[in-house]
Amino acid sequence: MIVVTGATGQLGRLVVAGLRERGAAVVAGARNPSAAADLGVEVRELDYDRPDTVDAALTGADQVLLISGSEAGRRVPQHTAVVDAAKRAGVRQLVYTSALHADTSPLVLAPEHKATEEVIRASGLGFTFLRNGWYHENHADQITQGAETGEIVGAAGDGRVASAARADFAAAAIAVLTGGGHENRAYELSGDTAWTFAEFADQIAEQAGKPVAYRSLAPAEFQRFLVDRGTPAQVAGFVAALEQNIADGTLADTPGDLRTLIGRPTTPIAETIKAVLAA
Ligand code: NDP
Repeated sequence: MIVVTGATGQLGRLVVAGLRERGAAVVAGARNPSAAADLGVEVRELDYDRPDTVDAALTGADQVLLISGSEAGRRVPQHTAVVDAAKRAGVRQLVYTSALHADTSPLVLAPEHKATEEVIRASGLGFTFLRNGWYHENHADQITQGAETGEIVGAAGDGRVASAARADFAAAAIAVLTGGGHENRAYELSGDTAWTFAEFADQIAEQAGKPVAYRSLAPAEFQRFLVDRGTPAQVAGFVAALEQNIADGTLADTPGDLRTLIGRPTTPIAETIKAVLAA
């Protein structure tokens, strides 16, 4: 039996639905079980901050998909609670959604993933690290903004990003959970194509039928731009640092692991642009 944590999230929902389609025995772990009632599978309360719920939720689990939490700064103790419970429950395989090249990456988000991977390795559990790169969907607001205003503002310069659709990352998780030969491996998951924001703006322009330009600011300037539009200073600093990571090519690697795992090309960014503009 497979327990999926964070099953109420956007990635978790896709994974649970895909596992269900394949007839796998799946349990949805949710900190708010009522929010998972529509998933059509058994739901168990699973709150990373309440280890007793994690122990109860993992009872009888053979595999666990630990979907990284969404509260940056709190994730290492939260994930550790799941690792400890998985060990007590005798779980065979712990699959963890990490970050691209988490062990060496300068990405501002990487340290918590690196620390979690170390906790998992030290636990002695069988593991698979899904080092998820960047979601196309992270740029949904920029797609809307570009189509509405004719301009996308950021700080990524000419940096390339090899993003992929969230559904592609879900498909990789499903492949690993339902296939063999993934024990104690780390996959660097990214899209087939690394694009620049100028190319991204061109794609939006083509689909929106109007010119769209990309304006890249210096990181500090971009941070001010975000704060002036109501973003809290700390969040703006974080977003600007991420843009700097992209400018530096931190998310540009295209080793092809995602394509190999899902057995098809990754979804082009153009398809996400189309879906966002249609919504
Ligand atoms: P979502 O924000 O849609 O989902 C996050 C999930 O984590 C939700 O189910 C949420 O539960 C759950 N969660 C948060 N805190 C706890 C907790 N204390 N106990 C139990 N569950 C908790 O994110 P996505 O599904 O899109 O992405 C999954 C993860 O991937 C994110 O959490 C983040 O770590 C990472 N991510 C990666 C990105 C990338 O580009 N690589 C981009 C965005 C996220 P609830 O529904 O109750 O809030």
